[in-house]
This record gives sequence, structure tokens and C-alpha cells, in this order.
Amino acid sequence: MSEVREFKTESKRLLNLMINSIYTNKEIFLRELISNASDAIDKYHYMSLTEDKLPKKNDYEINLSYDTKKRTFTIKDNGIGMTYDELVNSLGTIAKSGSLEFMEKLKDEKNKDKIDVDIIGQFGVGFYSAFMVANKVEVKTRSLYDTKAYKFVSEGEETYTIDEIEKEDSGTEITLYLRKSSDEYDYDKFLDEWTIKSLVKQYSDYIRYPIKMEVTKSVKKEGTENEYEDKKEIEILNAMTPIWKKNKNDVTDEEYNNFYMQKYYDYKEPLFHILLNVEGKVNYTALLYVPSVAPYNLYSEKYEKGLQLYSKGVFIMDKCKELVPDYFRFVKGLVDSSDLSLNISRELLQKSKELKEIAENVEKKLVSKLENLMKNDFDTYLKFFEVFGINLKFGVYDEFGAKKDLLKDLIIYHTTNQEKMISLKEYVEAMPKDQKVIYYASAKNKEQVLAMPQMDLIKKHNYDVLILPDDVDEFLIQILREYDGHKFQSVNQGDLDLLDKDEEEKVKELNTQKKPLLDAMKEALKDEVSDVVISKRLTDSAVCLVSTDGVSFEMEKVLNQMPNANGDVKAGRILELNPNHELFKAIEDVYLKEPQEIANLADLLYNQALLVEGFPIKNPVEFSKKMCDLIIKASK
Ligand code: ADP
Repeated sequence: MSEVREFKTESKRLLNLMINSIYTNKEIFLRELISNASDAIDKYHYMSLTEDKLPKKNDYEINLSYDTKKRTFTIKDNGIGMTYDELVNSLGTIAKSGSLEFMEKLKDEKNKDKIDVDIIGQFGVGFYSAFMVANKVEVKTRSLYDTKAYKFVSEGEETYTIDEIEKEDSGTEITLYLRKSSDEYDYDKFLDEWTIKSLVKQYSDYIRYPIKMEVTKSVKKEGTENEYEDKKEIEILNAMTPIWKKNKNDVTDEEYNNFYMQKYYDYKEPLFHILLNVEGKVNYTALLYVPSVAPYNLYSEKYEKGLQLYSKGVFIMDKCKELVPDYFRFVKGLVDSSDLSLNISRELLQKSKELKEIAENVEKKLVSKLENLMKNDFDTYLKFFEVFGINLKFGVYDEFGAKKDLLKDLIIYHTTNQEKMISLKEYVEAMPKDQKVIYYASAKNKEQVLAMPQMDLIKKHNYDVLILPDDVDEFLIQILREYDGHKFQSVNQGDLDLLDKDEEEKVKELNTQKKPLLDAMKEALKDEVSDVVISKRLTDSAVCLVSTDGVSFEMEKVLNQMPNANGDVKAGRILELNPNHELFKAIEDVYLKEPQEIANLADLLYNQALLVEGFPIKNPVEFSKKMCDLIIKASK
């Protein structure tokens, strides 16, 4: 008597999407099922090496067969198999939550039922792809750890059944009852020897276990000259050598790229790859890829960084996070080492000296590859930096700057005076002799920076200014403190130090001379600013706001947006006035004639300066009323 079970809701909806063929490239079901079979054998092999009691095997294989009459296609492996619970949990549920939501979103966006993006494997829904070509799927499986075997059958609708069956060995056998061919799609091609052979070659050539199938061969009839007869024989369809074990010169970039796309479920070619063959203290091969687009969930908590780990070609684990630092979390690939023991626990393995050594080397190689690109192929570097640069910025800032010296030369910025993005090193090299510090401004683009009142004097000097586009940038600058002996200086913070002695003296004098006015304004703004002063940086604009040393305006904004912020981070504010501007004279006039008005003017100027800095004004209604009063007064 079959036990009938219902698919989990999520799975039901996903199945539905699959069946209604959101994906046009149906043939990849074969790649998905072969990949699952290979994983299952990997697991068996790993277990048999680490657990003494388990039977050893040397006949691992994945077997393909088809029946043209019944219109079935079967894939069989002698891997680890599934227990009853595993069957229910793995095939009755979608392993990775969030995948369905994402697929549905994609579907909505395109507003049609076809998606040309290979997203299937990316979300661990590989098995379900069988329903793209089959209207009934039968899974017979027996776990290495169980004496009982089970049969799972589903027609891709609400329910599936599970029955106990007899099965001699551990492993899994999946039979697909193919859909009927129509004008729209030829499902019969999966009953064709040649098609299957070429699909395996195309998608699964690198699989390390033999993929076997009975094929028909034309052979010379015995005792005849040129008479031929068809003979059935078992053929291994894949080359089997893992791509990372092949000689670099025998593998094309296209092959490396295809391997990446199949193995790491990307629909785009990677930006570049690195193959490392290291013989030394620790021997290993590493094949590393930098994608050309960021994985969709790269910045979510669920994202797992890491490289696949193999020991002498035996798969150990999927995402070994110890192998890449956080700032390289987007790097995909694998490490295969002959010096890692299989017989130790994951915990110990993760602490192993060998693993540490490999990780350090991988990190160094990645950094030097990036340095190399920056020097010799800047266009590719730009593409890289656009997608992943922010990770490097976090890398500089993270762990109190532990990696800052390693990474600082990989950071590039736009600047106000140059067309191309440049590194800090290039900035410093291009500095005129009289420029002491590195100027920067937080902004999204050049226009924004050039329009800042605080830029007046810097523009006169024609000094270049780094444009910092990201939230993390000012924190990075804080950690670096200086580059090559040159301090960083924000254009709207502290003293710019751009005046000569005479000019300094003049400002000092003016500050004394205009003290009563400045004090009156300061009094009016006493809750908002720490000082009102004659500016040393304005030449054309009338007023500006600068922050005192310490927290900058940008940091104030960023920190107050953090999830747990209560809005109490505040940069110290100084209101600067340009004594040569007409406005200054106008204020002085008002101060002489109607000193009681100065508080209102100070407030207006302050609010204006806030707006220019991208801060909200405190009391918009009051601000607007004061503006109206001013206009009415002017008309009288
Ligand atoms: P993914 O392989 O990405 O986890 P799938 O939907 O393809 O997602 O498979 C779900 C799970 O079902 C696998 O993680 C594995 O535990 C189990 N599974 C699938 N195929 C097999 C197989 N041939 N042998 C053993 N377990 C399998």
C-alpha cells in the first residue's frame, strides 16, 4: 500500500513553474541529474574512506539507459542513496528557501513564462528539472546506512507516493517518463543515442566517475571482408579527468569557462580564472574564478562563501569558508590537495596548518592577479572593480585595518580632475609639489563635488579631489589615515590649510574685527553649531557648513542609518562665512540697523547650508515662514 504525501507548498509552486517550462533549455535536466549522481558517489567514497566499517568499492559508475517503447530515460548511480527521511526532505521539499521567491520574481519581471537565465541549479532545485521533460518521475533508492529501500513516484502534481521496495545495493535510480513530443518540443531526442552522447560530452565531460551507456557499434562481421553488423557494447561517454588536473596548455579558456558555468551555476562567463599548481610545503591545485556578475544574494546573510575542497581528487566539502577571506567572498572555485587527510573531522580539518597555508597563498595569488590586471589590462580591472570593488573596500576597513597594506593599492576612485579612475598611488604621484594632503569629498559624482561651496579655494589651486561614492569610503580613509606620508583631508572638514601667512593673519584680524556679529550669530545658533567663523576656504560662495575633526557629515549620515541607530551621532558643525561676498555685507548692514533680526538671518543661512550638505532642515514649516517674511519685507 503506497503512502501518499503532499509536496510542501513551496515545492508545489516551484514544480508548477518547472512544468510550465519557465526555462527553455530543457536538456540541462541531464546535467542536473548526473551532477546529483556524481555528488552521491562522492559522498559514498568519502564515507568509505573515513569510516572503516563501510564496504570499499572501486566500481563507481553512473549508468544511462533508455527504452524507446516505454519512452523512459533512466539514470542510475551506486552512490550513497537516500533514507526515507532524506527522500522526503530532499525531494519533497525545496532545500534552499528563497529560491522560489526569486524565480517567481524573475518571472514577473519578464512578464512571460520563459526565462533565458540559467537559474535552476543555482537554487538547489536541480532534481525538479526532471519535470521539464517528464510527466512522471520514479526514484528508487537505498541508503548506505539503511537495509530498506524506497520508491518515490510523482507526476509533478500535488502529491507523491512512497513505497518500500527491494534493492540490493546502495544508490539511486531515477526513471523519467518522457512527455509527448509536439511541434513545440521534441522530447523523443532523449531516446536517441547520439543526442545523449553529445549532451554528456557538452555538459558532463569532466565528471570524475564513468558515465556509461550501452551503445550500438557497427563492427566488421567475423570472417568477412567488408560486411558489417550492429553490436551492442557499453561505452564510457565522458573523459573523466577533472579539468583542474589537465595540463593548462591542453585546455582552452572556453573549456575553463564552461566548467565554471556548469559547476557554479552561472549563466555568464567568468571575468577571469586562475589555475595554481603549487608544489612546496603543501602541494595543491587551485582553480579560482571571479564571476562577471555578483551572485544575486552576495550581500545577504544566507550567502555562503568558500571554495570546494578535494583531497587527491576526492570531494571533501562544498563551501570551505576558511579558504577565502570575507572580502573575496565572491570568488568561486576549488582546491585539490594531496596533503589534506581525509580521515580527520571537519573541525580539525578547518584548523589544519595545511589549510591555512593554502588559504594564505590563494589570497596572495588573487591579490597579485588583481594588481597585474590593474597594470596590464585596466579595462578588465575596471569591470571587476565596478562589481566587486566595494568588497575590497570592506577588506581594507575590516578587522581594524589588518589587511590595509595588502589591499590599499587595489582601490580606485574617480577624481575631479581626471577622466579615468585612479589609485591612491597615482593620485600621490600626480600631486603638485606645493600640495601636502590628499583631498577627498563624499559624493556620487564629479558635478556634485565641483558644486560644493567648500571647493572654492581648492578649485583655485587646481588640486585634484578624490570622489568617494560609497558609505564605507570614509571609514576606509579613517583606517588608512595617510598614504605615502600624505594625510587625507576632507574638503568639508577641519582646516584646509591653504592660506599663506598674510592671508591667515587677515582672517584672524577679521575674526576679531567682526566678533560682535559672529557672536550674535553664534548665540542664535547655539544649539546647532559650535562656532560661526570667517571662512578660510570660500572665495565665491557665501556660506558653508564644515564639520569639526572627528565624525564627518558623511559618517553622521551613515551611522544614523544603521539598523540600531537612534540618531544621536552628530558631527560637530561650524558655519563659515565668506567676508568678501556681498551677502556678508548685507548681513552686516542688517546687524547695524536691526540687530534683533540677526537671529532669523542666522537661522535661514544655517538651514540653507544644511540643505547644501544634504541634511534635512530641522523645522521646514518655520523655515518656509521665515523665507516668506523675508520676501515680503524685501518688497516693501
Ligand atoms: P541540490 O543538488 O542542489 O541540493 P536537488 O534538488 O538536485 O538540489 O537535490 C536535492 C537533494 O536530493 C540533494 O542535495 C541530495 O541530498 C538528494 N539527491 C538528489 N539526487 C540524489 C542521488 N542521485 N543520490 C542521493 N541523493 C540525491
